[in-house]
Amino acid sequence: MMSGIWQRSFNIVFTILIAVVVWLIFGAVKALLFLCIALLWMVFQHIRHLVALEQWLRLSDHTSGSIPAGSGAWDDLFAHLARYVRQHSQSQERLSSALERMQRATAAMPDGIVILDESNRIEWCNPVAEHHLGIDLNLDTGQPIIHLVRQIPFVEYLSARRYSNPLILKQMRQQGLVLSLQLVPYGYNQKLLISRDITRFEKIETMRRDFIANVSHELRTPLTVINGFLETLSFTDDVSPDFNKRALTLMTEQATRMQRLIEDLLVLSRLEDMHNKIKEKTVNVADLLNDLLREAESLSAGRHRIKLILSANDKLRGSEEELRSAFSNLISNAIRYTPDRGEIVINWEKHNEQGLFFVQDSGIGIEKEHIPRLTERFYRVDSSRSRETGGTGLGLAIVKHIANRHEARLEITSEVGKGSRFSIWFPAKLMVSEN
Ligand code: ADP
Repeated sequence: MMSGIWQRSFNIVFTILIAVVVWLIFGAVKALLFLCIALLWMVFQHIRHLVALEQWLRLSDHTSGSIPAGSGAWDDLFAHLARYVRQHSQSQERLSSALERMQRATAAMPDGIVILDESNRIEWCNPVAEHHLGIDLNLDTGQPIIHLVRQIPFVEYLSARRYSNPLILKQMRQQGLVLSLQLVPYGYNQKLLISRDITRFEKIETMRRDFIANVSHELRTPLTVINGFLETLSFTDDVSPDFNKRALTLMTEQATRMQRLIEDLLVLSRLEDMHNKIKEKTVNVADLLNDLLREAESLSAGRHRIKLILSANDKLRGSEEELRSAFSNLISNAIRYTPDRGEIVINWEKHNEQGLFFVQDSGIGIEKEHIPRLTERFYRVDSSRSRETGGTGLGLAIVKHIANRHEARLEITSEVGKGSRFSIWFPAKLMVSEN
Protein backbone atom coordinates (compact mmCIF):
# COMPACT_ATOMS: atom_id res chain seq x y z
CA MET A 1 0.00 0.00 0.00
CA MET A 2 2.79 2.35 1.00
CA SER A 3 4.80 1.47 -2.07
CA GLY A 4 1.69 2.19 -4.27
CA ILE A 5 1.30 5.68 -2.75
CA TRP A 6 5.06 6.27 -3.04
CA GLN A 7 5.04 5.16 -6.73
CA ARG A 8 2.07 7.36 -7.57
CA SER A 9 3.68 10.38 -5.72
CA PHE A 10 7.16 9.72 -7.14
CA ASN A 11 6.71 11.85 -10.30
CA ILE A 12 5.47 14.85 -8.29
CA VAL A 13 8.19 14.57 -5.60
CA PHE A 14 10.85 14.06 -8.31
CA THR A 15 9.61 17.12 -10.26
CA ILE A 16 9.57 19.26 -7.09
CA LEU A 17 13.14 18.10 -6.25
CA ILE A 18 14.36 19.03 -9.74
CA ALA A 19 12.53 22.39 -9.44
CA VAL A 20 14.35 23.04 -6.11
CA VAL A 21 17.70 22.17 -7.77
CA VAL A 22 16.87 24.49 -10.73
CA TRP A 23 15.90 27.24 -8.25
CA LEU A 24 19.21 26.86 -6.44
CA ILE A 25 21.28 26.88 -9.67
CA PHE A 26 19.29 29.09 -12.12
CA GLY A 27 17.02 31.12 -9.90
CA ALA A 28 13.33 31.23 -8.98
CA VAL A 29 11.96 32.31 -12.40
CA LYS A 30 13.48 29.31 -14.22
CA ALA A 31 12.37 26.98 -11.45
CA LEU A 32 8.78 28.27 -11.77
CA LEU A 33 8.96 27.93 -15.56
CA PHE A 34 10.18 24.38 -15.17
CA LEU A 35 7.38 23.62 -12.71
CA CYS A 36 4.74 25.04 -15.08
CA ILE A 37 6.05 22.95 -18.01
CA ALA A 38 6.14 19.82 -15.83
CA LEU A 39 2.58 20.43 -14.55
CA LEU A 40 1.31 21.10 -18.06
CA TRP A 41 2.89 17.81 -19.17
CA MET A 42 1.15 16.00 -16.29
CA VAL A 43 -2.22 17.58 -17.13
CA PHE A 44 -1.69 16.63 -20.80
CA GLN A 45 -0.98 13.05 -19.74
CA HIS A 46 -4.20 12.89 -17.66
CA ILE A 47 -6.23 14.34 -20.53
CA ARG A 48 -4.70 11.79 -22.95
CA HIS A 49 -5.66 8.92 -20.61
CA LEU A 50 -9.13 10.34 -20.04
CA VAL A 51 -9.68 10.57 -23.82
CA ALA A 52 -8.46 6.95 -24.21
CA LEU A 53 -10.84 5.84 -21.42
CA GLU A 54 -13.72 7.76 -22.93
CA GLN A 55 -13.05 6.19 -26.36
CA TRP A 56 -12.94 2.72 -24.80
CA LEU A 57 -16.24 3.34 -23.01
CA ARG A 58 -17.81 4.23 -26.35
CA LEU A 59 -16.83 0.83 -27.82
CA SER A 60 -19.65 -1.71 -28.15
CA ASP A 61 -17.34 -4.64 -27.43
CA HIS A 62 -15.79 -4.17 -23.98
CA THR A 63 -13.25 -6.99 -23.85
CA SER A 64 -10.37 -6.81 -21.40
CA GLY A 65 -7.98 -6.95 -24.41
CA SER A 66 -9.34 -3.68 -25.82
CA ILE A 67 -8.60 -1.64 -22.65
CA PRO A 68 -5.96 1.08 -23.46
CA ALA A 69 -2.48 0.95 -21.92
CA GLY A 70 -1.67 3.64 -19.35
CA SER A 71 1.18 4.94 -17.30
CA GLY A 72 1.51 5.91 -13.66
CA ALA A 73 -1.74 5.89 -11.69
CA TRP A 74 -3.63 5.24 -14.93
CA ASP A 75 -1.75 1.98 -15.40
CA ASP A 76 -3.19 0.74 -12.09
CA LEU A 77 -6.64 1.99 -12.97
CA PHE A 78 -6.65 0.28 -16.36
CA ALA A 79 -5.32 -2.96 -14.82
CA HIS A 80 -8.23 -2.93 -12.31
CA LEU A 81 -10.64 -2.19 -15.14
CA ALA A 82 -9.22 -5.09 -17.22
CA ARG A 83 -9.61 -7.47 -14.25
CA TYR A 84 -13.19 -6.29 -13.66
CA VAL A 85 -14.09 -6.71 -17.36
CA ARG A 86 -12.52 -10.21 -17.40
CA GLN A 87 -14.51 -11.28 -14.31
CA HIS A 88 -17.67 -9.74 -15.72
CA SER A 89 -17.35 -11.51 -19.08
CA GLN A 90 -16.59 -14.83 -17.31
CA SER A 91 -19.73 -14.55 -15.19
CA GLN A 92 -21.71 -13.51 -18.26
CA GLU A 93 -20.43 -16.59 -20.12
CA ARG A 94 -21.48 -18.77 -17.18
CA LEU A 95 -24.88 -17.07 -17.14
CA SER A 96 -25.46 -17.43 -20.88
CA SER A 97 -24.38 -21.11 -20.86
CA ALA A 98 -26.78 -21.72 -17.92
CA LEU A 99 -29.50 -19.93 -19.89
CA GLU A 100 -28.70 -21.98 -22.99
CA ARG A 101 -28.87 -25.20 -20.91
CA MET A 102 -32.23 -24.11 -19.50
CA GLN A 103 -33.56 -23.27 -22.95
CA ARG A 104 -32.35 -26.63 -24.31
CA ALA A 105 -34.03 -28.41 -21.38
CA THR A 106 -37.33 -26.55 -21.78
CA ALA A 107 -37.22 -27.05 -25.56
CA ALA A 108 -36.91 -30.81 -24.99
CA MET A 109 -39.89 -30.82 -22.63
CA PRO A 110 -43.05 -32.41 -23.99
CA ASP A 111 -45.10 -29.66 -22.31
CA GLY A 112 -45.45 -26.06 -23.43
CA ILE A 113 -44.27 -23.34 -21.01
CA VAL A 114 -45.15 -19.65 -21.18
CA ILE A 115 -43.86 -17.07 -18.69
CA LEU A 116 -46.42 -14.31 -18.09
CA ASP A 117 -45.75 -11.00 -16.32
CA GLU A 118 -48.06 -9.37 -13.77
CA SER A 119 -50.32 -8.04 -16.56
CA ASN A 120 -50.49 -11.49 -18.21
CA ARG A 121 -48.22 -10.43 -21.07
CA ILE A 122 -45.96 -13.00 -22.69
CA GLU A 123 -42.37 -12.70 -21.47
CA TRP A 124 -41.02 -15.94 -22.90
CA CYS A 125 -42.20 -19.36 -24.13
CA ASN A 126 -40.70 -22.60 -25.35
CA PRO A 127 -41.22 -24.03 -28.89
CA VAL A 128 -43.88 -26.53 -27.70
CA ALA A 129 -45.99 -23.65 -26.35
CA GLU A 130 -45.50 -21.82 -29.67
CA HIS A 131 -46.94 -24.88 -31.42
CA HIS A 132 -49.74 -25.49 -28.89
CA LEU A 133 -50.97 -21.91 -28.58
CA GLY A 134 -49.98 -20.47 -31.96
CA ILE A 135 -47.47 -18.03 -30.40
CA ASP A 136 -44.54 -16.61 -32.36
CA LEU A 137 -42.02 -15.65 -29.68
CA ASN A 138 -40.28 -13.11 -31.94
CA LEU A 139 -43.51 -11.30 -32.78
CA ASP A 140 -45.66 -11.87 -29.71
CA THR A 141 -43.31 -11.13 -26.78
CA GLY A 142 -45.03 -8.44 -24.70
CA GLN A 143 -48.49 -9.27 -26.10
CA PRO A 144 -51.29 -10.08 -23.60
CA ILE A 145 -51.83 -13.87 -23.70
CA ILE A 146 -55.58 -13.37 -24.19
CA HIS A 147 -54.86 -11.80 -27.59
CA LEU A 148 -53.56 -15.21 -28.70
CA VAL A 149 -55.70 -17.60 -26.65
CA ARG A 150 -59.06 -15.91 -27.01
CA GLN A 151 -61.43 -18.67 -25.94
CA ILE A 152 -63.84 -17.47 -23.25
CA PRO A 153 -63.16 -20.39 -20.82
CA PHE A 154 -59.46 -19.47 -20.84
CA VAL A 155 -60.14 -15.74 -20.28
CA GLU A 156 -62.42 -16.69 -17.36
CA TYR A 157 -59.84 -19.15 -15.97
CA LEU A 158 -57.18 -16.43 -16.10
CA SER A 159 -59.30 -13.84 -14.31
CA ALA A 160 -60.89 -16.22 -11.76
CA ARG A 161 -57.44 -16.76 -10.16
CA ARG A 162 -58.32 -20.30 -9.06
CA TYR A 163 -55.53 -22.22 -10.69
CA SER A 164 -55.50 -25.45 -8.64
CA ASN A 165 -57.22 -27.43 -11.41
CA PRO A 166 -56.17 -27.42 -15.06
CA LEU A 167 -58.46 -26.14 -17.79
CA ILE A 168 -59.29 -28.45 -20.70
CA LEU A 169 -59.38 -26.49 -23.92
CA LYS A 170 -60.05 -27.49 -27.50
CA GLN A 171 -57.57 -25.43 -29.50
CA MET A 172 -59.40 -23.63 -32.32
CA ARG A 173 -56.34 -22.88 -34.42
CA GLN A 174 -55.44 -26.54 -34.79
CA GLN A 175 -58.24 -28.93 -35.60
CA GLY A 176 -58.66 -31.72 -33.08
CA LEU A 177 -55.94 -30.53 -30.66
CA VAL A 178 -57.08 -30.80 -27.04
CA LEU A 179 -54.93 -29.04 -24.42
CA SER A 180 -54.78 -29.13 -20.65
CA LEU A 181 -53.75 -25.65 -19.46
CA GLN A 182 -52.53 -24.97 -15.93
CA LEU A 183 -51.44 -21.65 -14.48
CA VAL A 184 -48.82 -21.67 -11.73
CA PRO A 185 -48.25 -18.31 -9.95
CA TYR A 186 -44.68 -17.58 -8.84
CA GLY A 187 -42.37 -14.70 -7.93
CA TYR A 188 -43.86 -11.21 -7.93
CA ASN A 189 -47.26 -11.72 -9.59
CA GLN A 190 -45.68 -13.70 -12.43
CA LYS A 191 -47.25 -16.87 -13.79
CA LEU A 192 -46.15 -19.99 -15.59
CA LEU A 193 -48.68 -21.28 -18.11
CA ILE A 194 -48.13 -24.98 -18.71
CA SER A 195 -49.83 -26.55 -21.74
CA ARG A 196 -50.10 -30.31 -22.27
CA ASP A 197 -51.39 -32.09 -25.36
CA ILE A 198 -54.11 -34.48 -24.11
CA THR A 199 -55.68 -35.18 -27.52
CA ARG A 200 -54.93 -38.90 -27.21
CA PHE A 201 -56.32 -39.19 -23.65
CA GLU A 202 -59.43 -37.27 -24.68
CA LYS A 203 -59.90 -39.62 -27.62
CA ILE A 204 -59.54 -42.66 -25.36
CA GLU A 205 -61.94 -41.10 -22.85
CA THR A 206 -64.48 -40.38 -25.61
CA MET A 207 -64.10 -43.94 -26.92
CA ARG A 208 -64.64 -45.30 -23.40
CA ARG A 209 -67.79 -43.19 -22.95
CA ASP A 210 -69.11 -44.16 -26.40
CA PHE A 211 -68.34 -47.82 -25.72
CA ILE A 212 -70.27 -47.86 -22.43
CA ALA A 213 -73.18 -46.01 -24.06
CA ASN A 214 -73.19 -48.48 -26.98
CA VAL A 215 -73.04 -51.58 -24.78
CA SER A 216 -75.86 -50.24 -22.59
CA HIS A 217 -77.92 -49.48 -25.67
CA GLU A 218 -77.29 -52.94 -27.17
CA LEU A 219 -78.32 -54.66 -23.92
CA ARG A 220 -81.32 -52.45 -23.22
CA THR A 221 -83.36 -53.52 -26.27
CA PRO A 222 -83.33 -57.29 -25.63
CA LEU A 223 -83.84 -56.71 -21.91
CA THR A 224 -86.87 -54.51 -22.62
CA VAL A 225 -88.38 -57.26 -24.80
CA ILE A 226 -87.76 -59.97 -22.16
CA ASN A 227 -89.09 -57.76 -19.34
CA GLY A 228 -92.19 -56.91 -21.36
CA PHE A 229 -93.05 -60.58 -21.87
CA LEU A 230 -92.25 -61.47 -18.25
CA GLU A 231 -94.56 -58.70 -16.99
CA THR A 232 -97.38 -59.78 -19.33
CA LEU A 233 -96.96 -63.43 -18.33
CA SER A 234 -96.90 -62.69 -14.60
CA PHE A 235 -99.93 -60.33 -14.66
CA THR A 236 -102.08 -62.37 -17.02
CA ASP A 237 -103.76 -65.46 -15.51
CA ASP A 238 -105.12 -66.93 -18.67
CA VAL A 239 -102.28 -66.97 -21.22
CA SER A 240 -103.01 -68.70 -24.48
CA PRO A 241 -100.59 -71.50 -25.44
CA ASP A 242 -99.87 -69.61 -28.72
CA PHE A 243 -98.85 -66.45 -26.86
CA ASN A 244 -96.82 -68.54 -24.44
CA LYS A 245 -94.93 -70.18 -27.30
CA ARG A 246 -94.33 -66.88 -29.12
CA ALA A 247 -93.14 -65.23 -25.89
CA LEU A 248 -90.71 -68.06 -25.19
CA THR A 249 -89.36 -67.99 -28.76
CA LEU A 250 -88.80 -64.21 -28.70
CA MET A 251 -87.31 -64.26 -25.21
CA THR A 252 -84.90 -67.02 -26.23
CA GLU A 253 -83.93 -65.01 -29.34
CA GLN A 254 -83.20 -61.91 -27.25
CA ALA A 255 -81.33 -63.90 -24.62
CA THR A 256 -79.21 -65.46 -27.38
CA ARG A 257 -78.55 -61.99 -28.77
CA MET A 258 -77.33 -60.80 -25.36
CA GLN A 259 -75.22 -63.91 -24.97
CA ARG A 260 -73.59 -63.36 -28.40
CA LEU A 261 -72.89 -59.76 -27.49
CA ILE A 262 -71.30 -60.70 -24.18
CA GLU A 263 -69.24 -63.46 -25.82
CA ASP A 264 -67.95 -61.00 -28.47
CA LEU A 265 -67.17 -58.43 -25.77
CA LEU A 266 -65.19 -61.03 -23.84
CA VAL A 267 -63.31 -62.04 -27.01
CA LEU A 268 -62.48 -58.36 -27.69
CA SER A 269 -61.29 -57.74 -24.16
CA ARG A 270 -59.05 -60.85 -24.30
CA LEU A 271 -57.60 -59.66 -27.64
CA GLU A 272 -56.96 -56.18 -26.27
CA ASP A 273 -55.21 -57.49 -23.19
CA MET A 274 -51.49 -56.79 -23.80
CA HIS A 275 -50.49 -59.57 -21.41
CA ASN A 276 -52.49 -62.15 -23.32
CA LYS A 277 -49.81 -63.39 -25.72
CA ILE A 278 -50.66 -65.42 -28.83
CA LYS A 279 -50.66 -69.19 -28.28
CA GLU A 280 -48.75 -69.84 -31.48
CA LYS A 281 -48.74 -73.14 -33.33
CA THR A 282 -48.58 -74.30 -36.94
CA VAL A 283 -52.15 -74.09 -38.18
CA ASN A 284 -53.30 -76.28 -41.05
CA VAL A 285 -55.23 -73.61 -42.96
CA ALA A 286 -56.73 -76.11 -45.44
CA ASP A 287 -58.26 -78.23 -42.66
CA LEU A 288 -59.48 -75.14 -40.83
CA LEU A 289 -61.15 -73.71 -43.96
CA ASN A 290 -62.78 -77.06 -44.80
CA ASP A 291 -64.30 -77.02 -41.30
CA LEU A 292 -65.50 -73.45 -41.78
CA LEU A 293 -66.92 -74.31 -45.21
CA ARG A 294 -69.17 -76.92 -43.59
CA GLU A 295 -70.29 -74.39 -40.96
CA ALA A 296 -70.93 -71.80 -43.70
CA GLU A 297 -73.05 -74.26 -45.68
CA SER A 298 -75.15 -75.00 -42.63
CA LEU A 299 -75.56 -71.25 -41.90
CA SER A 300 -76.50 -70.52 -45.50
CA ALA A 301 -78.86 -73.50 -45.60
CA GLY A 302 -78.60 -73.75 -49.38
CA ARG A 303 -79.36 -70.09 -50.05
CA HIS A 304 -75.90 -69.36 -51.52
CA ARG A 305 -73.29 -71.03 -53.70
CA ILE A 306 -70.18 -71.28 -51.53
CA LYS A 307 -66.82 -72.18 -53.05
CA LEU A 308 -63.51 -72.89 -51.30
CA ILE A 309 -60.32 -72.40 -53.36
CA LEU A 310 -57.08 -73.66 -51.80
CA SER A 311 -54.31 -72.42 -54.13
CA ALA A 312 -51.58 -72.74 -51.49
CA ASN A 313 -50.83 -75.70 -49.28
CA ASP A 314 -48.78 -73.59 -46.85
CA LYS A 315 -49.61 -73.72 -43.18
CA LEU A 316 -49.60 -70.65 -40.98
CA ARG A 317 -47.88 -69.87 -37.66
CA GLY A 318 -50.48 -68.34 -35.35
CA SER A 319 -53.26 -68.94 -32.89
CA GLU A 320 -55.70 -71.49 -34.28
CA GLU A 321 -58.52 -70.21 -32.08
CA GLU A 322 -58.02 -66.61 -33.18
CA LEU A 323 -57.59 -67.44 -36.89
CA ARG A 324 -60.77 -69.53 -36.77
CA SER A 325 -62.62 -66.63 -35.18
CA ALA A 326 -61.36 -64.08 -37.77
CA PHE A 327 -62.05 -66.30 -40.81
CA SER A 328 -65.43 -67.38 -39.46
CA ASN A 329 -66.50 -63.76 -38.79
CA LEU A 330 -65.67 -62.77 -42.39
CA ILE A 331 -67.43 -65.83 -43.84
CA SER A 332 -70.56 -65.35 -41.75
CA ASN A 333 -70.65 -61.65 -42.74
CA ALA A 334 -70.47 -62.64 -46.40
CA ILE A 335 -73.46 -64.95 -45.91
CA ARG A 336 -75.42 -62.38 -43.88
CA TYR A 337 -74.89 -59.54 -46.33
CA THR A 338 -75.42 -61.51 -49.53
CA PRO A 339 -78.95 -62.02 -50.79
CA ASP A 340 -80.19 -65.53 -51.61
CA ARG A 341 -78.66 -67.22 -54.69
CA GLY A 342 -75.54 -65.06 -54.29
CA GLU A 343 -72.03 -66.46 -54.58
CA ILE A 344 -69.36 -66.62 -51.92
CA VAL A 345 -65.72 -67.56 -52.56
CA ILE A 346 -63.35 -68.47 -49.73
CA ASN A 347 -59.73 -68.40 -50.86
CA TRP A 348 -56.26 -69.26 -49.48
CA GLU A 349 -53.20 -68.49 -51.59
CA LYS A 350 -49.56 -67.44 -51.53
CA HIS A 351 -48.76 -64.07 -53.08
CA ASN A 352 -45.17 -62.73 -53.16
CA GLU A 353 -44.29 -65.05 -50.24
CA GLN A 354 -47.16 -63.50 -48.21
CA GLY A 355 -50.21 -65.50 -47.21
CA LEU A 356 -53.50 -64.20 -48.58
CA PHE A 357 -56.87 -65.23 -47.19
CA PHE A 358 -59.95 -63.61 -48.63
CA VAL A 359 -63.71 -63.95 -48.69
CA GLN A 360 -65.41 -62.55 -51.76
CA ASP A 361 -69.18 -62.18 -51.95
CA SER A 362 -71.66 -60.99 -54.53
CA GLY A 363 -73.68 -59.23 -51.83
CA ILE A 364 -75.05 -55.78 -51.15
CA GLY A 365 -71.63 -54.07 -51.06
CA ILE A 366 -70.57 -51.09 -48.96
CA GLU A 367 -70.34 -47.42 -49.87
CA LYS A 368 -66.79 -46.03 -49.94
CA GLU A 369 -67.21 -43.59 -47.05
CA HIS A 370 -68.15 -46.37 -44.61
CA ILE A 371 -65.15 -48.60 -45.34
CA PRO A 372 -62.53 -46.85 -43.12
CA ARG A 373 -64.94 -47.02 -40.12
CA LEU A 374 -66.13 -50.64 -40.44
CA THR A 375 -63.63 -51.97 -37.90
CA GLU A 376 -64.80 -49.54 -35.19
CA ARG A 377 -66.79 -51.28 -32.45
CA PHE A 378 -70.53 -51.16 -33.10
CA TYR A 379 -70.13 -49.36 -36.44
CA ARG A 380 -72.82 -50.64 -38.81
CA VAL A 381 -73.85 -49.45 -42.24
CA ASP A 382 -77.38 -50.75 -41.81
CA SER A 383 -78.17 -51.39 -38.13
CA SER A 384 -81.47 -53.15 -38.66
CA ARG A 385 -80.03 -55.61 -41.21
CA SER A 386 -77.09 -56.28 -38.88
CA ARG A 387 -79.41 -57.01 -35.91
CA GLU A 388 -81.93 -59.02 -37.94
CA THR A 389 -79.15 -61.34 -39.05
CA GLY A 390 -77.81 -61.71 -35.50
CA GLY A 391 -74.92 -59.24 -35.78
CA THR A 392 -73.31 -57.69 -32.71
CA GLY A 393 -71.43 -54.93 -34.56
CA LEU A 394 -68.18 -56.26 -33.11
CA GLY A 395 -67.18 -58.85 -35.75
CA LEU A 396 -64.84 -56.70 -37.83
CA ALA A 397 -63.32 -55.09 -34.71
CA ILE A 398 -62.42 -58.62 -33.60
CA VAL A 399 -61.01 -59.46 -37.07
CA LYS A 400 -58.88 -56.29 -37.07
CA HIS A 401 -57.44 -57.09 -33.62
CA ILE A 402 -56.62 -60.65 -34.63
CA ALA A 403 -54.94 -59.43 -37.83
CA ASN A 404 -52.86 -56.93 -35.83
CA ARG A 405 -51.82 -59.61 -33.35
CA HIS A 406 -50.51 -61.67 -36.30
CA GLU A 407 -48.80 -58.61 -37.86
CA ALA A 408 -51.24 -59.09 -40.72
CA ARG A 409 -53.18 -56.47 -42.69
CA LEU A 410 -56.94 -56.37 -43.21
CA GLU A 411 -57.95 -55.00 -46.60
CA ILE A 412 -61.55 -54.18 -47.59
CA THR A 413 -62.68 -53.52 -51.15
CA SER A 414 -66.31 -53.24 -52.14
CA GLU A 415 -68.72 -52.02 -54.75
CA VAL A 416 -72.32 -51.22 -53.88
CA GLY A 417 -74.70 -53.75 -55.40
CA LYS A 418 -71.85 -55.95 -56.67
CA GLY A 419 -70.22 -57.33 -53.58
CA SER A 420 -67.27 -57.06 -51.22
CA ARG A 421 -63.90 -58.66 -50.65
CA PHE A 422 -62.36 -58.88 -47.18
CA SER A 423 -58.69 -59.94 -47.38
CA ILE A 424 -56.13 -60.67 -44.69
CA TRP A 425 -52.48 -60.46 -45.77
CA PHE A 426 -50.15 -62.49 -43.54
CA PRO A 427 -46.40 -61.71 -43.43
CA ALA A 428 -44.06 -64.19 -45.21
CA LYS A 429 -42.39 -65.10 -41.90
CA LEU A 430 -45.62 -66.79 -40.68
CA MET A 431 -45.91 -69.00 -43.77
CA VAL A 432 -44.83 -72.63 -43.29
CA SER A 433 -44.18 -74.51 -46.57
CA GLU A 434 -45.09 -78.14 -46.79
CA ASN A 435 -41.75 -79.30 -48.30
P1 ADP B 1 -72.17 -56.85 -37.68
O1 ADP B 1 -72.36 -57.73 -36.54
O2 ADP B 1 -73.06 -55.69 -37.69
O3 ADP B 1 -72.13 -57.60 -38.97
P2 ADP B 1 -69.37 -56.37 -38.19
O4 ADP B 1 -68.36 -55.69 -37.35
O5 ADP B 1 -69.10 -57.77 -38.56
O6 ADP B 1 -70.72 -56.20 -37.42
O7 ADP B 1 -69.57 -55.53 -39.50
C1 ADP B 1 -69.74 -54.14 -39.41
C2 ADP B 1 -70.60 -53.64 -40.56
O8 ADP B 1 -69.91 -53.83 -41.78
C3 ADP B 1 -71.90 -54.43 -40.73
O9 ADP B 1 -72.90 -53.92 -39.91
C4 ADP B 1 -72.19 -54.22 -42.21
O10 ADP B 1 -72.84 -53.00 -42.37
C5 ADP B 1 -70.82 -54.11 -42.83
N1 ADP B 1 -70.37 -55.40 -43.46
C6 ADP B 1 -69.58 -56.32 -42.92
N2 ADP B 1 -69.35 -57.34 -43.80
C7 ADP B 1 -70.04 -57.02 -44.91
C8 ADP B 1 -70.23 -57.66 -46.18
N3 ADP B 1 -69.65 -58.82 -46.48
N4 ADP B 1 -71.00 -57.03 -47.08
C9 ADP B 1 -71.60 -55.85 -46.82
N5 ADP B 1 -71.48 -55.20 -45.63
C10 ADP B 1 -70.70 -55.78 -44.68
